[in-house]
Amino acid sequence: MTMEEVFTKLRSLQEILSEKFEIEREMEEIPKILATRTELLSRMKKSYLEKTQEYETKGRYIEELRNKALEAERVREGFEQQMDMIQTQREYEALDKEIKDSGEKEQDLRRDLQREEQLLGEMKVNLEKDETMISKQEEEVQKEQSRIKDAVAAKGKDLKALEKKEKSITPGLDEEILFKFERIIKSKAGLGIVPIEHGVCSGCHMILSVQFVNDVRQGDGIMFCPYCSRILFHQPEDTEEQMEEEEAAIEEDEETESEAEEEGGDGEED
Ligand SMILES: [Zn+2]
Repeated sequence: MTMEEVFTKLRSLQEILSEKFEIEREMEEIPKILATRTELLSRMKKSYLEKTQEYETKGRYIEELRNKALEAERVREGFEQQMDMIQTQREYEALDKEIKDSGEKEQDLRRDLQREEQLLGEMKVNLEKDETMISKQEEEVQKEQSRIKDAVAAKGKDLKALEKKEKSITPGLDEEILFKFERIIKSKAGLGIVPIEHGVCSGCHMILSVQFVNDVRQGDGIMFCPYCSRILFHQPEDTEEQMEEEEAAIEEDEETESEAEEEGGDGEED
């Protein structure tokens, strides 16, 4: 295999590998969206559980209040029945006070009970709202999970196809160079093989020594940029100049055309 053939292979491999690494990065990102949703869901469930416990505690407290109110009612009724048996004014006054006091106590308890029952009702409404939100979120998580499954499957397919292409290119290439090449592409966002342009590495734009540039031009082996580790290849100056000339020619053409347009028909008369 000539150096030119090796470079051609590496350049095609570069396209495949950078696409492959991009897909791998995307596949790593995919489950992160789900992680956020799952976390939110578990926070919602935790809060729901705490509220349920508060609701139950409140329920027990209300039950106690109700029993106390009933007890106060019995006490008051007991005093009222004793009214029939009193004989003196003094006894009457004492009993009347007991009836009033127990009546007030009963009233207070009934007021508390009413207030607490209202709070309990509000808690129940909130809990029901939470239940709706949780089941919606659960639905979302499930949808997300199946979306992820599909996305991962599709990307896995793409990856397989790229790996197949990769295998058709790699035979005959030095394994150590391949290993380095893959690592460079992974860390340098896609570019692992770049040309030297006017004595400068076109990957990192560092000026290379004349000796080094000459070695690359000789093409005896693979040369790595001493600054960015990319594989460097020599791009014949005439190609560069030719390309520049072509570019310049295209620009000139465009200029001539636009000038001609601006001048209109004047040129033809002369
Ligand atoms: Zn470089």
